[in-house]
Amino acid sequence: MVIAIDGYSSSGKSTLAKDLAKALGFIYVDTGAMYRAITYYFIKDSLNFEDNHILREHLPKIELTFRNEGGDNKIFLNGEDVSVIIRTLEVSSKVSEVAALPSVRKKLVAIQQSMASQNLVMDGRDIGTVVFPAAEVKFFVNADVNERSKRRHLELTKKGDNVSLDEILSNLIHRDLIDTTRATSPLKQAEDAIAIDTTHLSRKAQLEFALDVVKNKLA
Ligand code: C5P
Repeated sequence: MVIAIDGYSSSGKSTLAKDLAKALGFIYVDTGAMYRAITYYFIKDSLNFEDNHILREHLPKIELTFRNEGGDNKIFLNGEDVSVIIRTLEVSSKVSEVAALPSVRKKLVAIQQSMASQNLVMDGRDIGTVVFPAAEVKFFVNADVNERSKRRHLELTKKGDNVSLDEILSNLIHRDLIDTTRATSPLKQAEDAIAIDTTHLSRKAQLEFALDVVKNKLA
């Protein structure tokens, strides 16, 4: 069974996906982390990812692996644990440009589809529309952009990242625009996805709602 959760950045979809996977005993896959890891690969060596020759040369050299360590989902880029470094604003500011590249999407969608032999909760932007259009359950998560900025700000400042709320707000607006207007697999709600607005919904209430939907589906 695949549960697809798509939605806007910092809308709470990863938290819901993680909670749902834990409650159901499913595997959680964070596809945003995969796009972030590829972005980190290019920016750490100042490689121009908009140059097709560079892309063709480097994409096959990128290997992503996943491991659950003590309840935390870790992502490894060619063997290096990049789970923390991919969350910086530097990576966030470039990830939507990298994620708009068709060859990057082709590589990652193939990896994501190859995971389907297990029970999955997968979150991203195109899971219910492109990666698993036949997913048994689909959610589309959104929240007010100011609320989303506050959440991301809290998350980053807790980690000691010194970023302003304004920087985060402009980053989210910038990413929303690229994610919803790119030519390849833009972010959009699948016709059969159930919308959840998390602006005023507690974490517990979101989980209860989603669990009800899944249980009805299973019944
Ligand atoms: O989910 P997160 O905010 O970490 O995703 C980072 C970026 O990766 C998004 O802004 C989007 O550009 C890209 N992404 C995507 N397709 C996915 C998951 C993420 O294009 N399935």
